[in-house]
Amino acid sequence: MTFHDPKALDTTDHAAKLDRLATVAVRVGLGLQPGQELVMTAPLDALPLARAITEQAYRAGASVVTTLYTDELASLLRFTHAPDEAFDRAAGWLYDGMAAAYRNGAARLAIAGDDPSLLAGQDVDRVARANRARSKAYQPALELIAGFAINWTIVSAATPAWARAVFPGEPDAVAVPRLWDAIFAASRVDREDPVGAWATHNAELRRRTEELNGRRFAALRYTGPGTDLEIGLADEHEWHGGATTAGNGILCNANIPTEEVFTTPHRLRVSGTVSSTKPLSYQGTLIDEIRVRFEEGRIVEAAASKGQDVLAKVLDTDEGARRLGEVALVPHSSPISASGLLFYNTLYDENAASHIALGQAYSKCIRGGLSMGEDALVAHGCNRSLIHIDWMIGSAAIDIDGVLPDGRTEPVMRRGEWAR
Ligand code: ZN
Ligand code: ZN
Repeated sequence: MTFHDPKALDTTDHAAKLDRLATVAVRVGLGLQPGQELVMTAPLDALPLARAITEQAYRAGASVVTTLYTDELASLLRFTHAPDEAFDRAAGWLYDGMAAAYRNGAARLAIAGDDPSLLAGQDVDRVARANRARSKAYQPALELIAGFAINWTIVSAATPAWARAVFPGEPDAVAVPRLWDAIFAASRVDREDPVGAWATHNAELRRRTEELNGRRFAALRYTGPGTDLEIGLADEHEWHGGATTAGNGILCNANIPTEEVFTTPHRLRVSGTVSSTKPLSYQGTLIDEIRVRFEEGRIVEAAASKGQDVLAKVLDTDEGARRLGEVALVPHSSPISASGLLFYNTLYDENAASHIALGQAYSKCIRGGLSMGEDALVAHGCNRSLIHIDWMIGSAAIDIDGVLPDGRTEPVMRRGEWAR
């Protein structure tokens, strides 16, 4: 018996796919402009993709590409050895620098590929304090990102730690290539013409958002196992999906992949009970089987079978952390959902199911919101918070109805699929 060694061939093929992913990230994700600066964040294990993106960015005319690498083991060393007071600190100068770069016209690209359970087993209070300090320091930069003042995007890289979570029990040599295949497929880089495939996909998402914008629902009503929820939509809300024109005039796709259409709920008009349909991986902790009850937009009861203490801390981050900042619709048959995989990564899992997000709302989901002041946004029902955490509430067992201003209802989704 002989084994052929496909390694040489695979390596070339893999490099070609990385290159196509980098092209999609730069051309579709960022729409990077000649002369534009780029600030990139990447895990160390994503070095080959970060380099491929750097090359494509310079080919597209980037002036300076700066990549900030994160090392998860170094992050863990802080939890092992740093003094307790350290956990209320963050590298504010770094985040201020990022915000300054964005104000000066830089684009932002993040490569996601974190170990979903990196901080499992660490002191919950310290994790919460560290997250809070980081969120606070990051706030000025995040406002520019969430408000789409700049063009930005997130893509993923199959790191070994993440691949082990998605394919438990498989050796890295099997798990990592399988995760890459899933990423390449979901990012449409396995197609003949990835950039063209994205244009078609963006047009389809636009058609959906235009239809929903035409219907002007006052609320969405969800029914299914463990879920009986009404989400009031913000005044003058607008549905978005696919490509966005940022405040700097550049067309970008903020998430690669993306399958969702989404808008802003009204911060005071959510009521009822909702159960999560997938585990949520939040900053290294898994939170599973979430069940919460809303009254007048605010979470008044929250439970989870796993990670409940972390969930409780998250909800206490600030006043807006108990309210919704996003409602998003994704058909159950979306390609990511059809993969049958649980990714433990928001970028992927949120595009496999309809979801809601706790915390900060996107100003662009209010008509004219990008040029509105803080008070006007809040008056329209836009929620404000240091956090924005998506969690999945869609499945093949959920029906969603749109509630018109006069109280009549129309089916939006049946058994997890578009009703029309
Ligand atoms: Zn979303
Ligand atoms: Zn979100």
